[in-house]
Order: sequence, then C-alpha cells, then structure tokens
Amino acid sequence: MSPQSFKRIPLIERYREFLPVTDRTPIISLSEGYTPLIKADRLASMLGGELTIYLKFEGMNPTGSFKDRGMTMAISKAVEAGSRATICASTGNTAASAAAYSARAGLVCAVILPRGAVAIGKVSQSLIHGAKVLAIDGNFDDALRITREISEAYPITLVNSLNPYRIEGQKTGAFEICDELGHAPTYHAIPVGNAGNITAYWAGYKAYYDAGKIETLPIMLGFQAAKSAPIVDGHPIENPETIATAIRIGNPASWKQAVAARDESGGIIDKVTDEEITDAQKLLASVEGIFCEPASAASVAGVIKKAKEGFFRGKCDIVCVLTGHGLKDPDRAIKIAPPIIELPADTKAVAKEMKLV
Ligand SMILES: *Cc1c(COP(=O)(O)O)cnc(C)c1O
Repeated sequence: MSPQSFKRIPLIERYREFLPVTDRTPIISLSEGYTPLIKADRLASMLGGELTIYLKFEGMNPTGSFKDRGMTMAISKAVEAGSRATICASTGNTAASAAAYSARAGLVCAVILPRGAVAIGKVSQSLIHGAKVLAIDGNFDDALRITREISEAYPITLVNSLNPYRIEGQKTGAFEICDELGHAPTYHAIPVGNAGNITAYWAGYKAYYDAGKIETLPIMLGFQAAKSAPIVDGHPIENPETIATAIRIGNPASWKQAVAARDESGGIIDKVTDEEITDAQKLLASVEGIFCEPASAASVAGVIKKAKEGFFRGKCDIVCVLTGHGLKDPDRAIKIAPPIIELPADTKAVAKEMKLV
C-alpha cells in the first residue's frame, strides 16, 4: 500500500473546486470529514419493504459533530480576512467546533450558550479549548440575537451558519455521500434545528448535479422535534422544548432556505416526538452499534415514522445523517438506558445475576 492511499487531505483541498477558496486561503483543518456511511441492514429489515438505509455518522468528525465541515471553512476564511476573534451562539456543537478550530488558528473565541440547556460534553469541549463561555438567561434564539448584534458592532467574526462559509463547507457532506454511493440517494433524511445543514446538503447535491457528477437529486426529508417545530407549525415557537437540545430552536435562521430545499426536492419537513427520538436513539445503539446524540436520532425517528405510514414505495435508498456523537450527552444516555446492577465482589452473585445458575 502506498502511503498516499491512506492520507487524508483536508476537506477544503479535496473539494476545492466546489468551495470559495483561493491560493491565498490558509487552510485550518483538523482532518474533518471522511465520515463513515454505514449500511443499517437490521434497522432496514425492521421497517420491511425494500428499503436500503445508510447512516452518515457525522459523530466521527474531530469535535464529534458535522459542524466541523462548516467550521474549517469559516475559520480559514476568517484568518484569510485578518480576523483576530470569533463568536457564535450555540446549542453546544457549534461552540465546541468554533472553540477547537479557533484554538488551532490562534484566534480568540467567545461562545454564547442558553444557560442550563447545553449537554455537558459540549460545554466541556468549549471550556478545554479555551473559549470564553458565556451562558445567558435565555434560549438559543436570544443567544443568536445577541451574537449578531455583537458581531455587527465590533470586529469579531460570526461563525454561526449565518456565515455563508459555514454552509459552503457543509455541502461536502453531500459530496461524500454521492462519491461513496456513486449516485445520490433516493431520500436524504436530516434533523432540522437552525436549518443550516438541510440548506447545505441541498446546495451540495445541486452543485454535484450541475457539475454532472450525479444524474438525480434526492428527496429531502427534514425532521424537527415536536415542541420545537416552527417550520412544520408555520410560526416561530417562543419557548421551544425537547430533549434533543441541538435542535431546540424556535426561529431558525435558514427557515426560507429549508422550505426551498423541501419544495424544490419534492420532500417534506415533519416532526417527531421526544419519545420517538429516544426510541430511535436506543434502537440505533442496540441493533446497529451506533451511539448518536438525541438530535441526530431525529432523522431515523422520522424515517421510522414515515415507513409506518407507508410513505416509502418500492426499492429505494435512504441516507440518514447522524449529526453528532452520543458521548456529547452522556447524561441523557444514562437516563434512557437500563440501570447499572450493583453486586458484592462475589462470583456466585455475578453468575446468578447473569442467569448462568
Ligand atoms: C447543529 C445540530 C443540528 C441542527 O443542525 P441545523 O443546521 O441547525 O439545522 C442537529 N444535530 C446536531 C447534533 C447538531 O449539532
């Protein structure tokens, strides 16, 4: 084997022709992307029909979520523009990614979080990477408003998905799926929070289509959490609620673009309950061996819901994006999994508990 075949080049290099970079753009990379596309046969057989399901496990990115695809672009362009500092509002993963890539680039980073509503693993990442972590008494939408106002008034680069380079970088998820399958999937299922990612995937598929790399476009299936479903309900939600904190957003920044992705692709945006999300997260962990965070499981929960409704007809393949790693939110996993069994240090007691005797 040649060393070359093993080498991962930065996403920005790999998909350079599709990204807004020049020879002068410094590339700030942590070897993001190249995430596995895992065939989920046990899950598919449970749903019956002729479905082939693939899980694009974005939890395998350097900071454990897809946000790294956008952040490598946003931070590289910030450095190119001479920026010294970054800021973002976050339900946790954008902050973790911004903190890591800013650290790598030598930029100061501030993250604005809704107090008490961010999973502990994500907070730990922002802190250890040296970001200034500011937790406000408000929700994500408040945090985003404050972040916008600060970035407009001071020389600090905003790295939320309002930053167009974030969306550009996140298109690479679609490129990887098409490169690996050799075509676009029939359906692309994805959780929707601030709606940047559904926007980015759709833009990515369209760019590949326009370049003649794929012959068909997928049908986009977006899923919001039931009590945080502004796009489905048709109005902003003042106090969004869900255990899937990464998609607990009441007024998505890319609302219009998400609706366009849905309509142009002939797809849907629907909602799933916290119970459906939890069931899907447990199922993925127990039958496929994949531990994703609750928000990520919304894509699979949505596909299960739609399969039960008889939505999918005939032979088709579905890619579900698993947006983040389950280790981000260990508290949640412990809450929904069976309990630890505590025993004396005694072989017989252990054997008995295992029903061996
Ligand atoms: C950010 C995030 C989402 C939501 O993505 P949007 O682009 O805001 O729609 C979903 N899941 C995880 C794990 C995330 O970090």
